[in-house]
Amino acid sequence: MIELTFLGTSAGVPTRHRNVSGLALRPEQSGGWLLFDCGEATQHQIMKSTLSLFRLERIFITHLHGDHVYGLFGLLASRGMLMCETPLEIYGPPGLKEMLESVMRLSQLHLPFEVKTRELNGTERLEFGSYRIEPVPMSHSITCYGYAFIEKDRPGKLDRDKAAELGIPEGPMLGRLKAGEPVLLPNGRIIEPVEVLSLPRPGRRILIGGDNDRPERFSPYSGADLLIHEATYTQKDFDRLPRKFKHTTALQLGCAAKKMKMKALAATHFSARYDTAHRMDEIEKEIRECYKGTLYLASDLMQIEL
Ligand SMILES: [Zn+2]
Repeated sequence: MIELTFLGTSAGVPTRHRNVSGLALRPEQSGGWLLFDCGEATQHQIMKSTLSLFRLERIFITHLHGDHVYGLFGLLASRGMLMCETPLEIYGPPGLKEMLESVMRLSQLHLPFEVKTRELNGTERLEFGSYRIEPVPMSHSITCYGYAFIEKDRPGKLDRDKAAELGIPEGPMLGRLKAGEPVLLPNGRIIEPVEVLSLPRPGRRILIGGDNDRPERFSPYSGADLLIHEATYTQKDFDRLPRKFKHTTALQLGCAAKKMKMKALAATHFSARYDTAHRMDEIEKEIRECYKGTLYLASDLMQIEL
């Protein structure tokens, strides 16, 4: 299972029910986890979940607007106070290093772990063992990246009954078959992995949007397992705004997700004006005008397992 936990789902400001942006992703069979964005008080949200700062391995920041990044400094300081010594990687747009280093220098923050910061240009493919992360340039008022989490294809499942039938003993031979190697049985027979493994299972693709007024920027990843994307306003409200911001409306998101054939959609990053069930219904209704697939309306501490 890949586990996603929404740590904050409000746009701009926290509300009584929602904190500002933060999303945790735990890859399958991994003790460690990844954090996407770190708005103020993300560390408080982490404390309400089963996640631990000790197991946090990497942070990906979409952009440097405060509601996506102001929680980073407090989170780093707390991880330091816990005397956690494992290094932490932080990825994000240009300017991230300067922001981090300035705060750390001015507040004399000395950490017991190494912080490896990397500013991205939006064309990288970041390889990490069982998955890779690709930044996806978004359309927003400052440089902003979404991130595509792409799991590598997983080997087929082992058919234990079939293995027993063929006389393969329990133990290391099964492990080698699972890893795709043929094995030689004591009776001289060679067993090929395809004899005991099902077909390889394609890796899952999860798309994590930043602030963005063009959800179709994710079209190179059409048909992904899950798109997590902002729906800051309803179209109705957006049309009445005296000043327009570069955000996506619920109507626009639903239609884009349909066009891109996303298998599931999680809408998040709602304006504070939708902080009631009644107003959230309006968001849902607009998304549903186009999109008929699996739909999640994110709320704080909500989990999705894939
Ligand atoms: Zn923003």
